[in-house]
Amino acid sequence: MRVLLLGGTGEARTLAAELIGRGVEVTSSLAGQVSNPALPVGAVRIGGFGGSEGLASYLREQRVTHLVDATHPFAATITRNAVAASSRSGVPLTLLRRPGWTQRPDDDWTWVPTIVDAARLAAGSPAGTVLLTTGRRDLAAFAGDAGHHYLVRTVDPADGPTPPRYTPILARGPYTLDGELALMREHAVTLLTTKDSGGALTIAKLYAASELGVPVVLVERPPLPDGLTACASVAQALDQLGFGATSG
Ligand code: NAP
Repeated sequence: MRVLLLGGTGEARTLAAELIGRGVEVTSSLAGQVSNPALPVGAVRIGGFGGSEGLASYLREQRVTHLVDATHPFAATITRNAVAASSRSGVPLTLLRRPGWTQRPDDDWTWVPTIVDAARLAAGSPAGTVLLTTGRRDLAAFAGDAGHHYLVRTVDPADGPTPPRYTPILARGPYTLDGELALMREHAVTLLTTKDSGGALTIAKLYAASELGVPVVLVERPPLPDGLTACASVAQALDQLGFGATSG
């Protein structure tokens, strides 16, 4: 069994460790967009494949027996490519996607389908400070809003258009409720704009917003390709790959 694990998430790193612990040959793949990525155990390759054809060629050349897509829920292109490469090469695909966040009755959340919609709502919100955690490549959508101050939290510094009035915060989760409360209070945040990444590591900002009465704009996940179902946990992915799960 030779696994190519498309990664870039905490779940991917956990799955890599679980598989390697079971004696499986695993190569994790990262896109190379983060300057100092958290690395999984085992072999790692970095950089794109050159679309679905490039990925299919890689699967054949490297005699990969199982393809696992454990990429971020918003990484829609690589997931489409994984589906196409799987059907082109005959290598079976396992998709691991952590569930999205669930709105509680007291949460003041507005769901929007795209980042452009989120930017429109932020620009139209009452004057104040917007905490933006949608990722540095989504900043351009907010660049036309001079009416708000933006507190922009990203892993790496912005390298494209940004809102004219913004304070960068370079950080990588996990985040605590106390830390998120302190951040929002210190900067008098009036709106949180984020995307439905799901998972426990970055959920504290939503709890903090709720506690402080700060409304939230949440970008919905892109849909999965037709006919594709996802494993919701590392344990489920291990099951689908033929292993009894012990953790995850
Ligand atoms: P994307 O839009 O779906 O993919 C863009 C291109 O990047 C793909 O066509 C592929 O290039 C390359 N790529 C993406 N993931 C790759 C991987 N794991 N290994 C090798 N090449 C990969 O993806 P994205 O939204 O830019 O995200 C890039 C990576 O960052 C993903 O691996 C994802 O797990 C991680 N990440 C994304 C987010 C997010 O919010 N989008 C957040 C946290 C982590 P080729 O076509 O040349 O193969």
